Amino acid sequence: MSSKSVDTMSPTEVVIVGLGPTGATLANILGGYGINVLVLEREESIYPLPRAVHFDDEAMRVFQSVGLAGQIDPKVRVNCGTRFVDKNQDLLLDWPRPQDIGPLGWYPSYRFHQPDLEADLNDGLARQDSVTVLRGCTVTDIVQDDDGAIISWEQNGKPSQVRADFVVGADGARSVVRHSFDCDWEDLGFKERWLVVDVQLTADRSDLGDFTIQTCDRARPTTYVRCPREWRRWEISLHDHERDEDVVGDDFIWPHMRPSITPDEGRIVRRAVYNFESKLSDKWRDRRCFIAGDAAHLMPPFLGQGMCAGVRDVANLGWKLAAVLRWNAPDALLDTYERERRPHTRVYIETAVNVGRMMNNAETAETLTHAINPDGSAQMKSISRGLAHAMGPADGHLAGARMPQPVLADGRRLSDAMAGRFAVIAGRDALADHADHLPDDASAIILDADAHEALADLLEIQGVSALAIRPDFYCYGGVQGGDAAAIAPFFSDLRAQISSTA
Ligand SMILES: Cc1cc2nc3c(=O)[nH]c(=O)nc-3n(C[C@H](O)[C@H](O)[C@H](O)COP(=O)(O)OP(=O)(O)OC[C@H]3O[C@@H](n4cnc5c(N)ncnc54)[C@H](O)[C@@H]3O)c2cc1C
Repeated sequence: MSSKSVDTMSPTEVVIVGLGPTGATLANILGGYGINVLVLEREESIYPLPRAVHFDDEAMRVFQSVGLAGQIDPKVRVNCGTRFVDKNQDLLLDWPRPQDIGPLGWYPSYRFHQPDLEADLNDGLARQDSVTVLRGCTVTDIVQDDDGAIISWEQNGKPSQVRADFVVGADGARSVVRHSFDCDWEDLGFKERWLVVDVQLTADRSDLGDFTIQTCDRARPTTYVRCPREWRRWEISLHDHERDEDVVGDDFIWPHMRPSITPDEGRIVRRAVYNFESKLSDKWRDRRCFIAGDAAHLMPPFLGQGMCAGVRDVANLGWKLAAVLRWNAPDALLDTYERERRPHTRVYIETAVNVGRMMNNAETAETLTHAINPDGSAQMKSISRGLAHAMGPADGHLAGARMPQPVLADGRRLSDAMAGRFAVIAGRDALADHADHLPDDASAIILDADAHEALADLLEIQGVSALAIRPDFYCYGGVQGGDAAAIAPFFSDLRAQISSTA
């Protein structure tokens, strides 16, 4: 392909294909580093109806890191948990979600209206000078060479091309970017058809409560979700013999809504049959191209984690692309994206599948209690887990652990102070003694633990004398307390991994 045929737009560092929640979050992250980004999206406007209805504290912290949490927070609801009921709607088990702000600085679980979130993410992009969004563009082809890729698309039948250093496919389950490199889906074995019905209530049904209601009826498991404002969701399992065209009709839907409402209490605005699947791409990077979000993984929605996983993907990939493009980090850093994210996502998919099977099969309080929490406490904590295969220092101490969000002495929250950089935390003397080994200001904020009580506490709790937190808020690693000789190599190793200076 001749380079003469490439549009002479300003140089593009990253092309993102797809402006769903994954692509929009990534574009906000990269825009924060001033990276020149072109987003190509097939649809002319935001899809007006929700798919995802839940996100967690980790996703909210990522939205905070791109300056959007203040805008998103007033529109969401803190999720209060699930009530499991039998087919007569009698309570089997109450499963509350924690109602306190957790260590990440946010509530563990939120209900949201996806079009609101996407509008907020798009608002964020409108404020980014280095991000261009082109809608109505269908990407048709990606051709790579050693230094970049040429991306071809069609808009109103007119073909165009652009050259970019990197391409990220955030283009959903049928990703054209994934198809452009040689990879397969690994099927993790879950496949069920469910009917999803979104309703806008037109009458007061506050008696339904604020909990999610899971009807435990092996013949027809059904989930009711209390969404923000007047929005409510029913998810109804389907039998193999039931045809799509029949189950989307009023005659099927109204009698199968449990808890029930009547047509004069709500308006059905969406009725869609989904095949819930569990799949993981066996490759997430091919030279200059990456995939993220549904392009890389699919999971049943029983944990409300599909979109959250996509947000975690791009929180991981975003800073690594910035490190390569802005801090001169070695290209090998980008290989850690798949190494870290793929096994992490697999655990969430497997957990979602197990929860789905439990919901489909448990019909008594005893089996539910056992399935949810074998110690009987039935209190669902956030499914927080670290990265099992994380990059990090030579001894790997603390690498990949999820880090809390302390508040600094000046009142700033840690993620705000980090502003897309690493946080390197140590006592005053250690920082002064090893100043020559520290990363530069562009890639890290250096924090004196003696000046911030919450950071001194963090070092003490972790049993370390120095700690580095990555821009995606996982731990890079720590120096075990008392090992003063290890501090200089720890700082130097970090610097070598994220920038050109060792
Ligand atoms: C019923 C249901 C309930 C769910 N509930 C939850 C939940 O509660 N919590 C949760 O975290 N997740 C949930 N999920 C999963 C979640 O909706 C998805 O994981 C998430 O939407 C994926 O986002 P994405 O940006 O990766 O992909 P998508 O949302 O699919 O976006 C891909 C974008 O790429 C564009 N595109 C595709 N091909 C091209 C092309 N060739 N050129 C240009 N543009 C292209 C598309 O137009 C689209 O805008 C649920 C899913 C379903 C179906």
